[in-house]
Amino acid sequence: MERIHVSVRARPVSPEEAKTSPWKISSNSIFISNQPAFKFDRIYRQDCKTIDVYEARTKEIVSATVRGFNGTVLAYGQTNSGKTHTMRGSTIEPGIISLAVHDLFDIISQDTSREYLLRMSYLEIYNENINDLLDPLNRKLQIHENLEKGVFVAGLREDIVDSPQQVLELMESGESHRHIGETNMNHYSSRSHTIFRMIFVKQIIESREKTRDEGVGNVCDAVSVSVLNVVDLAGSERAAKTGAEGVRLKEGTHINKSLMTLGTVIKKLSEGVENQGGHIPYRDSKLTRILQPALGGNANTAIICNITLALIHVNETKSSLQFASRAL
Ligand code: ADP
Ligand code: MG
Repeated sequence: MERIHVSVRARPVSPEEAKTSPWKISSNSIFISNQPAFKFDRIYRQDCKTIDVYEARTKEIVSATVRGFNGTVLAYGQTNSGKTHTMRGSTIEPGIISLAVHDLFDIISQDTSREYLLRMSYLEIYNENINDLLDPLNRKLQIHENLEKGVFVAGLREDIVDSPQQVLELMESGESHRHIGETNMNHYSSRSHTIFRMIFVKQIIESREKTRDEGVGNVCDAVSVSVLNVVDLAGSERAAKTGAEGVRLKEGTHINKSLMTLGTVIKKLSEGVENQGGHIPYRDSKLTRILQPALGGNANTAIICNITLALIHVNETKSSLQFASRAL
């Protein structure tokens, strides 16, 4: 499979908005009459389901995780474009996280020749501070790197999980921690990035089936660790648009910086800069630094660019499509 898969998902709009929308869509291109078309791997119209988006690429990324490859799935787009609906789901339909977690546990339950362990973590990056959503007291965490663990968030809680229900419950309780001290939840969630992570530890026990007595003979343990990140990015609308000042301006500046760095990192990866030994600016934002092990190397990445087709958002939609185009 190609390393970086880029799709676009249009959220439902009202019949009135649909009538006045300037956008025309085919299965892989989207354009406004008389303007150059944007082309992507796939474009999902407003009547598509999250499971269609999931099956197009994320499903393969999930099974590759079980084979030892890191993976990252990102939702990009302005506030209200459907990022959280796509990733976390709602009462209408399950999100990518739920579909991925069910698949992971299914794959594991079918393979009895190896031993697996799944852990999960859930964090947010708000104003370049990393906060643990599984432990509300665990705030302003630091990123470290060493030979044994590579790049990691020091002190981040990782819970061992043994069922999809347990994962989803932990996620829900993590969500409730985000309310602390916040009067405007919608505002807050649109200003922070969240990273949901499954850590897959595989213990390969060779000759297990052959050797009855495991205490003797050629039993050899090897451990492989791979991660799957599902990222709900902060709203991509620019700070300037809202005439932000003070705290809001600071939030906007941090968001712009991290999304810009993400765009640059992904563009360089798609150009093969890393394989040629070139510089990738992972360190320019916490977001890209944390995701580094699951963006570069042999990792698989999918970007879901969430847009709205409504006329009033035409400029934001264009800038989201421009961002996503850079990854191709
Ligand atoms: P974002 O996370 O990008 O700010 P949301 O996911 O919160 O946007 O979506 C905004 C609103 O639109 C929510 O009420 C959500 O339920 C609804 N919505 C978004 N996408 C869809 C969809 N594909 N089908 C139905 N409702 C959707
Ligand atoms: Mg959201």
